[in-house]
Amino acid sequence: MTDAKNVLVLYDERMLGHNPEIEEPFLPGRLERRVREILRGLDAKWSYPEHPGRLDAIKELLDQKPIPGVRFARGAAATREQLSRVHTTSYLDDIYSLRGQNAWLDTDTTAVSAGSVEAAEVAAGCAIKAVEAVAAKKADSAFALVRPPGHHAEPVRARGFCLFNNVAVAAAHAQSALGLKKVMILDWDAHHGNGTQDIFWSDPDTLFIDMHRASPFYPGSGHLEEVGAGLGEGTTINIPLEGGAGDSIMLRALNEIVVPAADWFKPDLVLVSAGFDAHRLDLAMNVSYAGFAAFTDIMQKIAGAHCEGRIAMVLEGGYHTESLSNAVHAVLTVLAGAAPPPLTEYGLEDVEAAIAYHLPAFTDQE
Ligand SMILES: [Zn+2]
Repeated sequence: MTDAKNVLVLYDERMLGHNPEIEEPFLPGRLERRVREILRGLDAKWSYPEHPGRLDAIKELLDQKPIPGVRFARGAAATREQLSRVHTTSYLDDIYSLRGQNAWLDTDTTAVSAGSVEAAEVAAGCAIKAVEAVAAKKADSAFALVRPPGHHAEPVRARGFCLFNNVAVAAAHAQSALGLKKVMILDWDAHHGNGTQDIFWSDPDTLFIDMHRASPFYPGSGHLEEVGAGLGEGTTINIPLEGGAGDSIMLRALNEIVVPAADWFKPDLVLVSAGFDAHRLDLAMNVSYAGFAAFTDIMQKIAGAHCEGRIAMVLEGGYHTESLSNAVHAVLTVLAGAAPPPLTEYGLEDVEAAIAYHLPAFTDQE
């Protein structure tokens, strides 16, 4: 530890109640026929990738390898008023009407089970508690370990495993209820945060920056030219990248775009939409654990430079449970005050070991 800090992790078992099973009956109608058709067309047996085992894996690793300075707290369900800052009332009515049901909301991979609406309310509520904790200085930083994720959820539409846009609900709460007017959101999930972009598209008080795998990768938005509109022109920044891009590319984006943008914007609060599907084991991109640790260090320094260190992270995607849990652990370790480990090229240790093993056979060395 170089500079011990305390980190509040928001976690709540109610979020495990979101568990869509694809064999469950659907709500009747056209959507069911369409979804059945899609599932029939898939080669492999498909199960819902955004499952409770994701949070279980993270929690298990944090219990096994506790990080000094990290403590846990439960969340509270977000209220209708808190959610309505970023979602329309008709959308909220529709989602609330699904309480206790199994249903597909959209062919775009979003389904609910009996406990899903409560899980989504608690997820958004955990994100709110995270910003409340850092605003009140009850923690140096906070991480909301939530599901369902949020960044694809639009004001009027559930998409891509997301029901409520957790990070947007947290940002809007900070602005409306906590007096933190200017909020910066960095989204490092491998997928573009279309919902967050949509919500803050014309809002000059919210700087939204998204590093992601470029279209046609899901959801297909997040082009360089998408910079916001109206009063918010210039406060949306997209950094679309190749699928194989990894640590050094992302670090250049952070140092040469995100840091100068933060210096220009001067946030009162820094939020991170922290998805971990950019890890190489998750196949979308090529980031390492040390890479996520380095990203965290940069974001923490931005918060230190502009807003007395106020930083909160909200979990988004990450579907390979091993890389998801290890990456969260690496991020929390840096939030708790450790220096990030040095970055090494993937495979470097192996090739060095191979050189040391083979080379003496070809040379005069004893
Ligand atoms: Zn993602």
